[in-house]
Amino acid sequence: MAREIYEPGEIPPLGEVPRYMYAALIRRDRYGQPADAIRIEPVEVPAVGRGQVLLMVMAAGVNYNGVWAARGTPADVIAARLKQGDPHDFHIAGSEGSGVVWAVGEGVHGLGVGDHVIVGGVRWDESATDIRMGVDPTASTSQRAWGYELNFGSFAQFTVVDEYQCHPKPARLTWEEAGCFLGGGSTSYRQLFGWPPHTVQPGDPVLVWGGSGGLGSMAIQLVHHFGGIPVAVVSDDAKTDHCLRLGARGVVNRRRFDHWGRLPDAEDTAAFQSWLQGARAFGRQIWETLGERRSPRIVLEHPGRDTLATSVYVCDNAGMVVTCAGTSGYNGDIDLRFLWMFQKRLQGSHAANVRQTRAVVDLVGAGRIDPCLSLTVPFGEIGAAHQLVHENRHPSGNTAVLVNAPEPGLTELP
Ligand code: NAP
Repeated sequence: MAREIYEPGEIPPLGEVPRYMYAALIRRDRYGQPADAIRIEPVEVPAVGRGQVLLMVMAAGVNYNGVWAARGTPADVIAARLKQGDPHDFHIAGSEGSGVVWAVGEGVHGLGVGDHVIVGGVRWDESATDIRMGVDPTASTSQRAWGYELNFGSFAQFTVVDEYQCHPKPARLTWEEAGCFLGGGSTSYRQLFGWPPHTVQPGDPVLVWGGSGGLGSMAIQLVHHFGGIPVAVVSDDAKTDHCLRLGARGVVNRRRFDHWGRLPDAEDTAAFQSWLQGARAFGRQIWETLGERRSPRIVLEHPGRDTLATSVYVCDNAGMVVTCAGTSGYNGDIDLRFLWMFQKRLQGSHAANVRQTRAVVDLVGAGRIDPCLSLTVPFGEIGAAHQLVHENRHPSGNTAVLVNAPEPGLTELP
């Protein structure tokens, strides 16, 4: 008879689904610091729907979605779902991971029990009218972030994902390497290659904010691999070597400048001139780092409030600032004159479609891009790992959590 629950790291016989699982739960009454908000509790294993598979999670990647979910802001994702009639009063975060297909739902044709997969972080309704009319699924009104807007993410022994979220795990990658890079890798891939004609071309200078972060580490490598010239921004000289090793031409330390934050009103001449001086000096520093007087054709944005105005300013004429986040705040100001007079493009970008996601999996699988795993923590330290991200104290690169993988370094089921 099947056991009711297994301990993390204790693998049931292939295909045997216990009734309960351990999961890293966020509850509304403990929203706040991630270290306190996220706790391991037993819950029922979720049911598998049509077109879905049940995955035994071996490892999962840590990213900002879990921080926001734990803090209950900018959205109370549990309250939002309860309002829509969802019966669950908790949230399981985790928007990327690696694992083994443990059960297969009706209508799944490309996956079978025992397959090793990496999972992408967005879900949509393949029968949505806009998708049928040709809209990219990531821009569909049905698109939701798995492990954030949608419950039952990867910080649990089992999770349910749609078939198209799954990509074959490259055999050479350990579970934790496979589970840590796709969020930042696929999102930055879409930012850099998803918005023609502003795709990275050989010789293009590209400015990468947060070069040592999860997204930035992948972006530097992607730009470099396709012949562009990445210039990374960091807040600490100790992160320089990491960026250079990944292929950055050079690194700018943002702490040497102090014009960050909301843009002063253009009519407030003194304050605006002071901001402009800072932005110009930052632009000159990019030229110096690049070794030539060329401005970035693409600026990979995500800090938002503190940096957007500068990104638009330093971007080359007819270039593109492409953003996927507001890490430092959601109110991003720009001086429109720099946008229209120099005919720059400000582009929003979110997650990645199946083709873009697969491209990154293939590049990492072929050993051309490093998954940049820098920290691996056990299942019980999911909250602590998110706390590090929240405080920007995590090491350069990506962080993974061992969920059912009993130890680091495994590429197969033990
Ligand atoms: P991360 O590993 O924490 O890296 C973020 C980097 O941003 C940090 O390393 C930090 O580098 C830099 N940073 C922090 N505050 C900053 C500020 N005020 N000004 C300039 N730089 C600042 O996070 P990540 O995984 O790379 O993700 C970055 C952002 O992208 C997050 O907001 C995340 O939610 C978002 N994201 C969005 C999607 C999407 O689909 N829309 C997908 C993945 C990630 P320094 O301190 O060294 O400068």
